[in-house]
Amino acid sequence: MFRPVSSQLNLPQIEEKLLHWWKQDKIFERSVENRRGGPRFSLYEGPPTANGSPGIHHVLSRIFKDIIPRHRAMKGYYTPRIGGWDTHGLPVELEVERELGLSSKTQIEEYGIDKFNARCRESVFRYLKDWNALTERIAYWCDLEHPYVTMENYYIETVWWAIKQMWDRGLVYLGYKTAAHCPRCGTSLSSHEVALGYEDDTEDPSVYIKFKVARWTGKEDEVSQRLSQLALSRDTYFLAWTTTPWTLPGNTALAVDADADYAVVEADNGHLILADALREAVGLGDNKVVMKVEGGYLVGAEYEPLFNPHESGVERRRFQSSAELLTQEPDKDLTYRVIATDFVSMEDGTGIVHVAPAFGEVDFEAGKEQGLDFVQQVDLQGNITGNYSFAGKFVKDADAPVLEELKEKGLLYRSETIHHTYPFCWRCSTPLLYYVKESWYIKTTAVKDSLISGNNEINWYPEHIKHGRFGDWLENNVDWAFSRERYWGTPVPIWRCKSCDYRECIGGVDDIKDKPGFKGLKEPLDLHRPYVDDMTYDCPQCGDTMRRVPEVIDCWFDSGAMPVAQMHYPFENETLLEDGRFPADYICEAVDQTRGWFYSLHAISTLLFGRPSFLNCICLGHILDAKGEKMSKAKGNVIEPSAVINKYGADALRWYFFTSSPPGNVRRFSADMVSEVTRRFLLTLWNIYSFFVNYANIDQFTPGAKGVLSHSELDHWIISELNQLVADVDSGLENYDPSGAGRKIEAFVYGLSNWYVRRSRRRFWKSENDADKLAAYTTLYQCLVTVSKLLAPFTPFVAEEMYQNLVCSVFPDQPESVHLADFPVTDMDKIDQHLAADVRLIMRVSSLGRAARSEAGIKVRQPLSRLLIKVASERQKRALKHLAPQVMEEVNVKTLEAVDDMPVTKHKEWPLASEGDVMVMLDTDITPELAAEGMAREIVRRLQMMRRSAGFEIADHIVTCYQGDEYIKSVVTGSADYIKQETLSEQLLDSAPAQGAYAESFKLEGHELRLWVKRLD
Ligand SMILES: [Zn+2]
Ligand SMILES: [Zn+2]
Repeated sequence: MFRPVSSQLNLPQIEEKLLHWWKQDKIFERSVENRRGGPRFSLYEGPPTANGSPGIHHVLSRIFKDIIPRHRAMKGYYTPRIGGWDTHGLPVELEVERELGLSSKTQIEEYGIDKFNARCRESVFRYLKDWNALTERIAYWCDLEHPYVTMENYYIETVWWAIKQMWDRGLVYLGYKTAAHCPRCGTSLSSHEVALGYEDDTEDPSVYIKFKVARWTGKEDEVSQRLSQLALSRDTYFLAWTTTPWTLPGNTALAVDADADYAVVEADNGHLILADALREAVGLGDNKVVMKVEGGYLVGAEYEPLFNPHESGVERRRFQSSAELLTQEPDKDLTYRVIATDFVSMEDGTGIVHVAPAFGEVDFEAGKEQGLDFVQQVDLQGNITGNYSFAGKFVKDADAPVLEELKEKGLLYRSETIHHTYPFCWRCSTPLLYYVKESWYIKTTAVKDSLISGNNEINWYPEHIKHGRFGDWLENNVDWAFSRERYWGTPVPIWRCKSCDYRECIGGVDDIKDKPGFKGLKEPLDLHRPYVDDMTYDCPQCGDTMRRVPEVIDCWFDSGAMPVAQMHYPFENETLLEDGRFPADYICEAVDQTRGWFYSLHAISTLLFGRPSFLNCICLGHILDAKGEKMSKAKGNVIEPSAVINKYGADALRWYFFTSSPPGNVRRFSADMVSEVTRRFLLTLWNIYSFFVNYANIDQFTPGAKGVLSHSELDHWIISELNQLVADVDSGLENYDPSGAGRKIEAFVYGLSNWYVRRSRRRFWKSENDADKLAAYTTLYQCLVTVSKLLAPFTPFVAEEMYQNLVCSVFPDQPESVHLADFPVTDMDKIDQHLAADVRLIMRVSSLGRAARSEAGIKVRQPLSRLLIKVASERQKRALKHLAPQVMEEVNVKTLEAVDDMPVTKHKEWPLASEGDVMVMLDTDITPELAAEGMAREIVRRLQMMRRSAGFEIADHIVTCYQGDEYIKSVVTGSADYIKQETLSEQLLDSAPAQGAYAESFKLEGHELRLWVKRLD
């Protein structure tokens, strides 16, 4: 006997029960261990930062990470899965800063780096309980008890080793370059971090500035002479455009396109020079053009600085050939000059570009190439230095006063605002500044070709990521600025001599301990700041002290090094690269990681080993709310995962995520959608399951170990479909397509419910336990058990619940959990493509027949005489002939008639329905005999409803009494056997009510009818 199953599905309750049991009996651990010795399947956990509660998008990525290894484990792969935590970096520091009320790096240093880092270490695992609880609750199976943790010494040591490998190959350098800088966090961001924080629709000033021509020098040609004359006759200005007025004090050059045409136009207080093509756009289209010249003639012209740095209290330096900057003497008649570059746009602005080498990549490069002056009037906190009227202000706040001052000087031509895309710090939302400073770089561009060829070995899902988002990113690779001027991170393992600037990279703890004159080691060892900063040794060049450089490493480097660092390679686990643990067979995260973790993983393994560290990657789309808006705390539309799970169950959420849309799509999410999925799929499945269990118990059906030979076509059909399903689901999961696989299961379960079970009902109901009934039970049993195994990776709870009852309660020698069972294998011999096609045809014909009925407004219970059918092929005709009884039953007609042409002209009123090459027409003439038969069916239906209302069991036999007019009597007498059989009525009496009977009255087609039902003892 199976445990009785309620038709109500209380998923959360079932799940809590199973979670407890899985934990107690270590089902996860055993699901891994019992496959030891099998081929390895390796998953890398992209480590989440544990300093925040997990959200709904974490559920999405965790269940997609979960499903594939679960499937592989059932297929015999050894798939240990190790959890991990990303513990370093700015997010952690920011949280601690907030708690301590610190707002700058100076304050942190005053507070003490040791104390600050101790707080960081402590704060990291504050949310760990939440994370572990959610991870367990959604049945994401991975080892949470032995996770890798990026802040542990062993992890840091491997990261040092990795940097040292790159250092030894000359791939680490100290660059003097522009970098995106977050003034609030006081650190550079790497280009992939910058890519994370672009915000559209940012409002900024859009201003046109006048730069006064001082003189034209050096050229004797006629055009230059004329230009010079013009400038002498009236004030003449170059007109340039910018969206960052705060950079204007740093201006040291104007750039033009040497080949473009420029115009000198008349304006109110003098001449303005700008690109001819942009006159119209700037609003100078109607002004008189005094002269047109090629940009080349403008090159070399000198103009007056907007702000003379020497009068503003800031240093003026100049690029030397070696990219050094040399301080320049004060000059009160300072002028700058016009240069030609290839980055001048004729699309917007004025065709004259304001160049400030301290604040931009191209500006910096131009400065180096052309030996320009360099004025840096902004400090690392983003505040203006010097003695400007706007000194001390944060750059963005300086925009307005800068413009105010230029306006007073008569140098502001026009001021507006624009909306454009601007990068913000992805952690703290402060606008980023491009800033020239020193930074440690990894020369990833040196391995660009390997990065690209390695990408060819990776399978991306969806596929377009490979040559799209990820491929593009690799094509445009720039060196990785990996140092951060911060505190809580893996320290950069470079020691430097202050006297002779000799530098060394340290590749491990023993490496530094062996250095001459080593001191500063504190026990217990902690490889963080400030303790590492105390470790010093003697400079091998000059004997002075080697000290560590102050920076820490970008935390993306930490997470990208996880394939080796989690194993403390090569200090331990020397066989890592050969034993199947590297590369990962599978990783999965959201699409924003193409420039985050996916990139750092790929870059590091390419740098270290010249090959990719993962072979298959599901790249998930983002989750939006039901209206399609981004979820954010500010908007208040964030959905707490636990609320959904506690109401509908983790399996409902899992199934929704797997099947609602392919993994790469952006998806909308609401609790209603989860509820709908529960109703549509999980409840349908549950109904079949509870139907089976309840009837099987009545008939005391016990599944045999061996299959039963069935002669039913319906059985053959569903078993064929089942085997096809096994093949489809297996290949779907093999090919990283859980959504496609899940939808196949959904379609199968729908067919099982709406065709197989519905059409087999009579076989389960009939009183005799014959071979046909046994075949029906055996078939449905096989379907349910197989589906439970197929579902195990998708909805581990529902699958387990069904498996426990269907399998474990009957076969004690079977694996005690569905997750310890083998994944089903297709029996190809059982797949009958012809039968499948035939059944699809009759399903289609039946549904067309019902559509025709509903068009004519005739209920399905009313039998009709015939259905006319037109099909295209001989094969279809044969199939229809063969399977006619099923169609007749489905459509409730007495005969099927195959026709070559529909008698549409003769029977205009008969409804037609068609789909593709199939057309049906329904004969709607109702004879008195058909009407009586329809009435008998109505009565049966009323009696069946009454049995339920009266609370009878399915198998209870009853006595039925009725009273009605002559017509009713003739109908009941005429169909007595049919009514008795359908309603399990031993007697059918035209008489007054029996004592204690359940009664109801009806009016059917205008005929009064009273019915009584009474259970037989
Ligand atoms: Zn920031
Ligand atoms: Zn030295």
